[in-house]
Amino acid sequence: MKLQTALTILAFACASNGCLLPHEIDEIEGRATAAPRLSIRQAGQKFNKKWVPVGSADRFKGGATVPQGIGSKPQDFDNASKLSMLNVKEIKSGLDGLVKAYGNKIKVQSSAEKTVENRDIWYGVVGGHDKPRVFLTSGVHPRERGGPDNVLYFVSDLLWANKENKPLKYGKKTYSVEDVRKALDVGIAIIPAVNPDGIEHDQKTDSAWRKNRRPTKGGNFGVDINRNFQSLWDYKRLFAKDTAKMSDDPAQGTYVGPAALSEPETRAVANVFNKVNSLTWFMDIHSVMGAFLYGWGSALEQHSEPGMNFKNTTWDGKRGYRSSGYKEYIEEDDFKAQVSISEQMVNTIGVAAGQSGRYRSIPTVSLYPALGSTDDAMAKYYNGTCGANRINAVTFEFGRSGYRRGTPEQEIFYPDANEYMDNVMHTAVAMMEFVLNAAGEAGKEKTYKCDGKKPDEQQQQPQQPPQECKQDDTPRQKLDDLCKEKVIAALKDCQKRQPNANFQVCRDEVMPVVQRCQADPKKEVCGQGQDQPQPQPPKPEQPQRPSTPKPQQPQRPNAPNKPEEPKPTEPKPAECKVDKEKTAEITRQCRRKASDWYAQNCDRDNDPSFECRQRAQAVADQCKKDEASKLCPPQQQQQQQQKPEPKPESKPEPKPEQPPPPPPAAECKLDEQKTKDIDKSCGNMVREFHKENCIRNRDFSKECEQKSTAQYDQCKKDEASKVCQQQPQQQQQQQQQQQPQRPSAPRPEPQPEAKPEPAECNLDEQKTREINKQCVDKATAWFKRNCNGNNDPGRRCFKRAQAYADRCEKDETSKVCAQQQ
Ligand SMILES: [Zn+2]
Repeated sequence: MKLQTALTILAFACASNGCLLPHEIDEIEGRATAAPRLSIRQAGQKFNKKWVPVGSADRFKGGATVPQGIGSKPQDFDNASKLSMLNVKEIKSGLDGLVKAYGNKIKVQSSAEKTVENRDIWYGVVGGHDKPRVFLTSGVHPRERGGPDNVLYFVSDLLWANKENKPLKYGKKTYSVEDVRKALDVGIAIIPAVNPDGIEHDQKTDSAWRKNRRPTKGGNFGVDINRNFQSLWDYKRLFAKDTAKMSDDPAQGTYVGPAALSEPETRAVANVFNKVNSLTWFMDIHSVMGAFLYGWGSALEQHSEPGMNFKNTTWDGKRGYRSSGYKEYIEEDDFKAQVSISEQMVNTIGVAAGQSGRYRSIPTVSLYPALGSTDDAMAKYYNGTCGANRINAVTFEFGRSGYRRGTPEQEIFYPDANEYMDNVMHTAVAMMEFVLNAAGEAGKEKTYKCDGKKPDEQQQQPQQPPQECKQDDTPRQKLDDLCKEKVIAALKDCQKRQPNANFQVCRDEVMPVVQRCQADPKKEVCGQGQDQPQPQPPKPEQPQRPSTPKPQQPQRPNAPNKPEEPKPTEPKPAECKVDKEKTAEITRQCRRKASDWYAQNCDRDNDPSFECRQRAQAVADQCKKDEASKLCPPQQQQQQQQKPEPKPESKPEPKPEQPPPPPPAAECKLDEQKTKDIDKSCGNMVREFHKENCIRNRDFSKECEQKSTAQYDQCKKDEASKVCQQQPQQQQQQQQQQQPQRPSAPRPEPQPEAKPEPAECNLDEQKTREINKQCVDKATAWFKRNCNGNNDPGRRCFKRAQAYADRCEKDETSKVCAQQQ
């Protein structure tokens, strides 16, 4: 069943979704229709923000006037009312002006590619030699206004300072002439406006346009350039279902195009990766989330298994954040270098702006798994092409996240005067740090040496499972201990790879291991089928490739399933298979729940922080797990009829066990409300702690961050064990009344009632679509009547329209289901 809940959306995606808006993520995932959102605009949305207008003439007069940036001529940026965004013509005439003034230090030429509308894509090399180490691009996504301006003004500043022998001043940060010379010596390749057709269109229509302007099927326009690169383009094969935020629907903002590199804009960038062998660093400049993104777009990273990489077909269909044990290989020094420069840019912008915490650095994939330009930059080396130069790549998202849900796209992406000035300055500082970084050790060339082997052949020996896995009767306690070691190893691994990462990043990596350990320690410790034959798995799924390097239990319910372990010693809720329909329904239900949680806990305080989003995600994960367990007992009973195994449900407690000691925190299952309370109170506590101890003392060291992390962990542990100590007696009483359960691993009580939820009945696609449309229409009408009429296109009214549509869909679905039954 495909029930499109038109308006219940992953509100928390809004927080840090970078270039994609929540409704766009919904659309890719087939969840939402855009009707109510459009209705706001169709109804004549009044914008609250006065964004910087686009220049109407040519301020550089065909190159006769030389551009100067905020670091060399701040007075030009002082008067907010006189600011305007560079138009496409000005981006070129600005470059011409620089060539005229500083011809020995900058060369500009047209890329070999012309756009669909026959425009040139201008490529420049700054620094006076033809071996640039750094490559900067911008203007991939036209609506992210200001990117080309930032790049042009930055190189203008460098060239000016070099010629005039003057330092550059960005807020409270000054770069000396020596710094400037060092930067120019590095050599900087630029494409300030990768997508001039799209930019022109966006500037003329104010339509918050994201793609290029290729006419596509169904009267649509545009391919998303940042989804058209080569290495991960074939996303349906590469990623686990529904993980990658990419689309093959030409109507979508993330349309990948008819083929990898089908677009001239993409090729213009890729050609530079391929032809300029001196490059060691690449930064693609986007907006609007205020962050530096490092690492791969397909998964989190690892450094120990070169064979676990985007080319390894064993992992096809299993990549994507949290969807499997898959992690993308990257050499440790490369990864560290990316994390390090990202942190450095964050910190230096903080110094320049006199405001720490303004930006943050996070793994690229923590936004959403997808392809981007940076993957192609890195793939050049990690493809294993002999002699390929290594290009480390990061994405910079200038701007500021934290807009309210329902804010029109223009207000999100188009900066007002203050934002524009901030962006020019912040980006200049980031680019300067980035280039200077490449002047040092981090910028040294590194080439892929094959040594007669390709990376795929250098796979490490699969890790041997511990001895305990060979026995069938290993005590649970032993397995639990081994599993705990795995959790600790995961944590250490994370901290090693991402020493400066926010603690939530590691939590996000470690929690799945904890959850798998709780669900089935043996499976987690021993893996599946490594040393045991696999006679008739209980429910055969699609055939799987046998040689998975490090099999792990898939996290997402709809990820491809592997055969179960042959002899589960005890039935466990997490192991039961839930059919696809139910899984999809659970996913939707839990997204709604998480969305509500987010709205209550994060959004209301206008705190769409990354942490809060992660917590909302945890709510969704826990919910999915709980819902899946609820559905399991009947299925297990079926299995057990086939296999005569001891049935705990059918027996009274066989051997009286000792009253269990207070279970450790990790093993005691808290209900959602308690977990939420604990998360919240500890989150508040640790924020205070961090403010008091780190921010106030201007201590941005990783030690201070770690201290905060430790406080948070300890707090949660303490709180949880407090609650857990109170719980056992209550739980035992309940369990005796219902059915015996393992005291050491309390599970959510299975719901005995078999009353089918209305939403669980199978509606066909057609019917679902009808209901969806009907309800969206109604909600749109409702919105027009109730919100616009009162001149209240605000978020609250919009939310009520959402709730209206949800209710309508639920009611209609139940009606139809009732009829079917
Ligand atoms: Zn973007």
